[in-house]
Amino acid sequence: MRIGVLAVQGAFIEHEKMLRALGVEAFEIRQKRDLEQEMDGLILPGGESTVIGKLLRELDMFELLKHKIEEGLPVLGTCAGLILLAEKLSNDEHTYFGTLPVTVKRNAYGRQLGSFYIEEEVKGVGKIPMAFIRAPYIEEVQKGVQIIAKVNGNIVGVQYGNQLGISFHPEVTDNTEFHAYFLELCRKYKEKAVA
Ligand code: GLN
Repeated sequence: MRIGVLAVQGAFIEHEKMLRALGVEAFEIRQKRDLEQEMDGLILPGGESTVIGKLLRELDMFELLKHKIEEGLPVLGTCAGLILLAEKLSNDEHTYFGTLPVTVKRNAYGRQLGSFYIEEEVKGVGKIPMAFIRAPYIEEVQKGVQIIAKVNGNIVGVQYGNQLGISFHPEVTDNTEFHAYFLELCRKYKEKAVA
């Protein structure tokens, strides 16, 4: 399996390390031609969503990536990646791909002091360590969106078909279980694509 990791800004190296630890090939998506490669899954990392969104347009990758997600390519958006996927942002007039029918609040825990670490349950995965770094959370989900994780009453993880969106960063911990869960999704997609 080959997973593409968007690598224009943010915490992409940590995701690559996780994937390699799980024995999966990871490649960086830095420019449009990288999207010509075969991929079984896509990771949108944490970072600054405004910067990543702007770069995606400047590098002419925005529409192509959006199309791939809409076509069913498994995607994992962490933190800023979740913001990129969200249909609506409650405290920002911008939206990006808008493929995930949820409302997300950016910097929901505050800008500076909003970083913390906790262990919590993720549906289908189990209890895992989660790092929150100037994180958003999900204020509202629409029909068909499955809530897979909550922390202190706030929604921090959802799944909607091929899309996984989480507020936290599993890639900065040493626990690979969340990535293994995402790879299961990618495996199913690959099998279907081959069949
Ligand atoms: N605060 C960032 C944003 O709004 C997200 C932070 C992160 O990805 N760790 O884009």
